[in-house]
Amino acid sequence: MRAVGVVPSRRELRLLDHQRPRLSGPNDVLVRTLDVGICGTDREICTFVYGSPPQGFDYLVLGHESLGEVVEVGAGVQSLKPGDLVVPSVRRPCPHDHCRPCRNDQQDYCGTGDFVERGIKMVHGYMTESYVDEEKFMNLVPQHLRDVAVLTEPLTIAEKALQQVWQVQGRIPWKRTEPGTPPGLGLNAVVLGAGPIGILGTMALLSRGFKTYVYSRSKAPNPKSELVESLGAEYISSLDTTAEQLAERVGNIDLVYEAVGGSEVSFEVIRVLGVNGVFVFTGIPAPGKIIDIHGDLTMRNIVLMNQAIIGTVNADRAAFQSAIADLGVFLERWPTQLKGMITGRYSPDQYQELLIGKNKGIKNVIQFG
Ligand code: BGC
Repeated sequence: MRAVGVVPSRRELRLLDHQRPRLSGPNDVLVRTLDVGICGTDREICTFVYGSPPQGFDYLVLGHESLGEVVEVGAGVQSLKPGDLVVPSVRRPCPHDHCRPCRNDQQDYCGTGDFVERGIKMVHGYMTESYVDEEKFMNLVPQHLRDVAVLTEPLTIAEKALQQVWQVQGRIPWKRTEPGTPPGLGLNAVVLGAGPIGILGTMALLSRGFKTYVYSRSKAPNPKSELVESLGAEYISSLDTTAEQLAERVGNIDLVYEAVGGSEVSFEVIRVLGVNGVFVFTGIPAPGKIIDIHGDLTMRNIVLMNQAIIGTVNADRAAFQSAIADLGVFLERWPTQLKGMITGRYSPDQYQELLIGKNKGIKNVIQFG
């Protein structure tokens, strides 16, 4: 069957002939791929900075943002049946007994580094017609989310970030807990970047009541600034507003959700993080650039203002489930904007322009179904 993948040893991106999978255990599920989203990680794998094939293969099938339909289930599968829509998770646990996170189904916190990731590290991804995986890695999606559920995986990044933010800020009376009051009401959040991760993060923050600002490069108005403003966030361009001016405009910056993948702007904004503020990094820049930072001032602020800096990668089952629930909320509140995030649906034959062509639109999707 058709698959899109890379052959790292030859530095090639190709349409591959990949073996059609079959159920091999009682807990297996056979899934027909419908949509696969393309993200910065896929494009980076196509520049061969990372991405590794499974053992015994010279190629890696790409794709980790996926929506599919269950076709067949093993005898032991309880929660899924043919026709169900599912979003699979990405990371699979390491084999080591002493890795407590992996043994506790928290492979997103794997302590050994020997985890594998579908479409990224040593397991084939979802950019192909069908795949088999275990029931426990599948997340059931309600049918009415069919058109937007491919956004689940990128939204899990914000969900996992928020899980941690609430935990860390449990150190003070930060979050609102009165019934009927959104937990972030009265708090200021800044999102860095207006790509898919930033826009979905903005929706997650707004829906929890945060006053939300999006700080991104391009001057407004532009399609992304218009989109985030229509959600109810304020868009501020870093080309005409410095980090200090941003902080003046916002007031105490309680939370920064970094979704830009660049260290320069991130360390500018860390400098103006507010009292008891939390800064969450989600971007993964290609290593290389060495930048100047106001090290003493930043460190002094982190200490004197009880700031917390968190890095977060990947997501657990709880994050996938809250992402699916949130997509339902977003679809009701912002139907046009949420659907509008998917700026193109393409056939697998157009893989070259999508993966190595000019980066365009917000979220591009390859349709297999
Ligand atoms: C994916 C994560 C993955 C990370 C690092 C991201 O693009 O969303 O699931 O853990 O890349 O490989």
